[in-house]
Amino acid sequence: MKRFTALAVAIVMGICTWAQERAIRPLDVPMSFSGTYGELRHDHFHSGLDWSVGGKQGDPIHAIKSGYISRVTVSPWGYGNGIYVTHPDGTTSVYGHMQGFTEAIARLVEEEQYANESFNVNLLFGPDDFPVRQGDVIGRVGNTGSSFGPHLHLEIRDTESDVSMNSISHGVYKPVDKSTPFFHRVCFYGLSEDPVEGSWRIHNFRNPSSVRDTVRLPHRSYVAMDVTDRQEGTASKLAVEEYRVLLDDTLLFSFKVGDMPSARGRYIKSLIEFGESRSGGRDMVKSRVDPNNLLLDRIECHNDGVIVLDDDGVHSLRLEAVDEHGNRAVLRYRVRRDDGIRPPERDTTVSSSPWIWFTQNGVTDGSMAYFLPAGALYNNINFTWRKVAGPDPSRGIVSDVWEIGSPDIPLQMSGELEIEADIPEGLEEKAYMARYGKTLASSGVQVGFGTYCVAVDTVPPTMTFLGNKGEIVSGSTIRIRVADDASGVASARVEIDGKWYLSMLKGDVISLELKENRLKRGKHEINVTVTDICGNEASETRTFSY
Ligand SMILES: [Zn+2]
Repeated sequence: MKRFTALAVAIVMGICTWAQERAIRPLDVPMSFSGTYGELRHDHFHSGLDWSVGGKQGDPIHAIKSGYISRVTVSPWGYGNGIYVTHPDGTTSVYGHMQGFTEAIARLVEEEQYANESFNVNLLFGPDDFPVRQGDVIGRVGNTGSSFGPHLHLEIRDTESDVSMNSISHGVYKPVDKSTPFFHRVCFYGLSEDPVEGSWRIHNFRNPSSVRDTVRLPHRSYVAMDVTDRQEGTASKLAVEEYRVLLDDTLLFSFKVGDMPSARGRYIKSLIEFGESRSGGRDMVKSRVDPNNLLLDRIECHNDGVIVLDDDGVHSLRLEAVDEHGNRAVLRYRVRRDDGIRPPERDTTVSSSPWIWFTQNGVTDGSMAYFLPAGALYNNINFTWRKVAGPDPSRGIVSDVWEIGSPDIPLQMSGELEIEADIPEGLEEKAYMARYGKTLASSGVQVGFGTYCVAVDTVPPTMTFLGNKGEIVSGSTIRIRVADDASGVASARVEIDGKWYLSMLKGDVISLELKENRLKRGKHEINVTVTDICGNEASETRTFSY
């Protein structure tokens, strides 16, 4: 009986130890971030902390808490080489862009790649496969996936809901932060009511803290701001946690990112002034709230965030940006109604129709039909379209070219586009919907707003071995540049001595590593096959020694 009691106490203590285990830092270098949670990234919010390593790969990555490796992923994009560690406290830590894996995992990954003849890997493990203790080295800092310089992307997720948490606002990591956010740019937009509420830019303040004059605004308008946070020890532009707009001390708009489920992140397109970021600027949070913005549980607003000036008196407008530590940047403007500010003349060369956000919408005109499902729009829009050009056989264009909507208008979902085409006989399989421009890349079946036509692609892709002086091997690496001037490269397959060999197609380069465990030293034959979206195939065979 006594023994039993002792055992029970030991178990309880064990559980307490787990629950109380505080996360340690994943890296040995001083804590400094090149990116933080909640950064605005066009179609998603950054969901982790990017740890700086001073530009070099190879630093050891430590498990921040004890647990077990539950998942390993490999992809040319996204997290690249990623590891998930599940902890007994209900959280999972995710480590992205790693250089490589520990030996045992690397072997399993490679087996999986050869078994499936695929570079991409998604392996799931149970608690007994790869248990880890806090501090264990689980990999090395790299630059794999969608990474532009060596760093560690670390996420802490709730295991059950899979939602990433802001580990700075939850107090897991406490960087020195006494700096306030910084306003880079502030824009004001007027709202016109004909035929549905549309907006146009009135003011573009690129030095927003130096504006002293009274800001003239029409009856109805809204404001958008480009603000980033600063932290001691880094020049990186980091995330602002909360945005606030007050008119005469009344809250007009606030947004606080909180812990963002990734599936909701796409609604960022409705939070930002989409046209400004599309034209190359950083994302700006706008005060106007769209009715189909499902981030509404993180937004407080009055008058849908619209600045309404009913009299011609001077009013005060206050913009605030707050970081996770409560550091607050404030901009104050005097604003006044000016009925002389009018919307620009409508372009009468385009056809237009009011589209309502909560219904499905569509248009049929001549050789074109476009359909947008309900829920695709964030707000009512004045949908515009026009025929831009006719067929152009010299470029393989076999239909009219249609401009569908304005690409400055964001969409939560794509639509379906049909364009009648005169496809030469026998080439039906080589026809595709093309995004029209200097190039004619395939748009895929689902299309957003933009300019499109049907094109025919009968030309196979090209490839260039990137070795020096006729050699195709540099060190133990073979790299091949691929190109396709029409529909685009869809896939590549590498065989060495007639057998599938692991390679990565990323952007326009295929790369592969010659490894002794797979390939004996000596003379070999490599065959590379590249296929474009219309099924045109190019194949080249070379011999090499290594
Ligand atoms: Zn990141």
